[in-house]
Amino acid sequence: MAEDQNTTRPAQLEYDADDEYRPEPPPKPEIPKWQDGSTRIGIHTSIAGDISGALEIAHGLGANALQIFSSSPRMWTRGADSSRIAAADAARFRERRRELGLGPLVIHDNYLINLASPDRVLRARSVQAFHGEIIRALGLGADFLVAHPGSACGMEMSTAIAAVADGLRQAARGLRLEGLRILLENTAGQGTCIGSRFDELKTILDACRDLPMGICIDTAHLFASGHDVRSASALEETLKKIDATVGLANVYVVHVNDSKTPHGSRVDRHEHIGKGKIGLEAIGGILNHPLLAGRAFILETPIDKPGDDRRNVATLWKLMGLPAPAGLGRKSWHKVRQLRRAKKRAVARKAAARAKARQSKRRGK
Ligand SMILES: [Zn+2]
Ligand SMILES: [Zn+2]
Repeated sequence: MAEDQNTTRPAQLEYDADDEYRPEPPPKPEIPKWQDGSTRIGIHTSIAGDISGALEIAHGLGANALQIFSSSPRMWTRGADSSRIAAADAARFRERRRELGLGPLVIHDNYLINLASPDRVLRARSVQAFHGEIIRALGLGADFLVAHPGSACGMEMSTAIAAVADGLRQAARGLRLEGLRILLENTAGQGTCIGSRFDELKTILDACRDLPMGICIDTAHLFASGHDVRSASALEETLKKIDATVGLANVYVVHVNDSKTPHGSRVDRHEHIGKGKIGLEAIGGILNHPLLAGRAFILETPIDKPGDDRRNVATLWKLMGLPAPAGLGRKSWHKVRQLRRAKKRAVARKAAARAKARQSKRRGK
């Protein structure tokens, strides 16, 4: 190609300053609307029925960011292809997300994945499943992929931590993670879970320097694992500890959840904002802390009653002293409910079709 350019270039007869080659300024990479520096509040939204529907729901709830699972979170995907998102669906999703200015898009990994599993089959399956997570995240144009580090299951903690780092690197092998960053989430410390201590997460980060990595702090996990945030001084202390280990600059996302369980309980139970043991004031302190400015705040609160999600989103905006975006209103709430009903019908239809297929297969035997 380069040789052709030389041979076809016309001979230059006379020097004219106007002819001088001025390189075109390189095209500015299009900066997504969500990176405008504005506050980002999101919520975990279901993809059941139709993946693009999650965008409409998050927008309708008054969020301007969102988190999703990219496949069923409690099922192993069978084979690499069964978990792929059709190119047309992914394109539609990306386009609609751009239109709505939603971001960042955070994907949470499957709950079954345990990169530290001492069981060889489970570990291989986990690496394969996490590989699938990365592929789907890239397909959807996600910004972050949040991963639970895993469970040591009786293994020495240091061995388990090394296995997680090794598993992450194996899962990412051969893939270019352009624009996608893998975030390790701190855990409540239930059972033999890795990652309730920030130095454990730091060890994994250090072992994965060749990958774009970072941290997602979950406030409920933070609290349950024994880090206090209830007073200004306790929060200061906790943030200092995080900064001294993983570094606050490596924190990109905060999962904002109140905790049903008490401080240091090591039990992971999320509660509505202001209804749990952390409390409204302390959550407000986290959201408004200057050291956490610019992070995406994503809710993973339960939906016990219709409207809980909308109320939790509204509470975060209020705690930040900001007006909720235009999405949040009676009309959009009506639309969210309509969408939910349509999704439920789609899921029921799919289940019925599967049952029918199973039945006819059985009859055919
Ligand atoms: Zn979380
Ligand atoms: Zn949790």
